[in-house]
Order: sequence, then C-alpha cells, then structure tokens
Amino acid sequence: TIGMIAIDAESNIHAGTSTNGALHKIAGRVGDSPIPGAGAYADNEVGAAVATGDGDVMMRFLPSLLAVEAMRGGKPPAEAAEVGIRRILKHHKDFVGAVIAVDRLGNYGAACYGMQEFPFVVSSPAKNRTAKDRPRHKKVQCI
Ligand code: ASP
Repeated sequence: TIGMIAIDAESNIHAGTSTNGALHKIAGRVGDSPIPGAGAYADNEVGAAVATGDGDVMMRFLPSLLAVEAMRGGKPPAEAAEVGIRRILKHHKDFVGAVIAVDRLGNYGAACYGMQEFPFVVSSPAKNRTAKDRPRHKKVQCI
C-alpha cells in the first residue's frame, strides 16, 4: 500500500491510499486501505494518518483513527503512530505493518512492527521552497 497525506494551501488535510491488497486475496476482499480510520484518516483540526500492512488485522483496530485521536490528545506524530501499532500488538503479536502520522502543522512521524525499519518520503512543494523542502527519504526503526 502507498499511503499519502497532503496539507493543501488552505490548510485542508487529505489522506489516501493506493493498494494492490494482499497476496492470494480472495475475491471480494476489501482489506483496510479503503476503510476510513483503518487505512487512512484525516481531520483538519488535528492531522492525518495512513497505514500499511496486514489489512485483515488492521481493519479491526482502526490504527489511523487511533493515531489521529492520539495527536488530538497531545501526542506528537511518532508517538501517536505507535499508539495505533501497539493497540494491534496487544492482540496480534505476529502483526506486520506501519503507521505514518502528520499533524496539522506538518510535523510527522511513523511507527512500524514486524520488520527492521520502515521507509517513507517527505516533501514540501511550497513555492519558495529551499533544498531542505525537496522530497527526502526518511526511515524509522521499528519497535
Ligand atoms: N494493507 C493492505 C491490505 O491488506 C496491504 C498492504 O499494505 O500492502 O490490503
């Protein structure tokens, strides 16, 4: 799954996913990606989150919603993303996946489990952007 979060010029926050689903998926499988709160969630007042990984598990725990609500409660994005991952881990120790969270000011963070690290890209297409605003590869060590 490719998860995307964008903040537009009017400060609206958007989140979306594009996925090929799961390997050998059964016909009619939906997975987490198109489910609000599971694959993605956005709230202009707070920020947004997107998720990737074992969708049959994630769609039951709404990790993107959990991450946004954790930011609403004051957690920084990386910790908020971890809230979503840890909720799943309470029930599924063999879970593999990641959550990326962005607050309404553009601060971002990610958390992952079941792999060593998780790569993502950050970009700021502002008109007067400087070198530091160009797309940059980031990665986070998994918990
Ligand atoms: N979450 C997707 C799904 O289960 C798969 C993925 O993230 O790669 O449909």
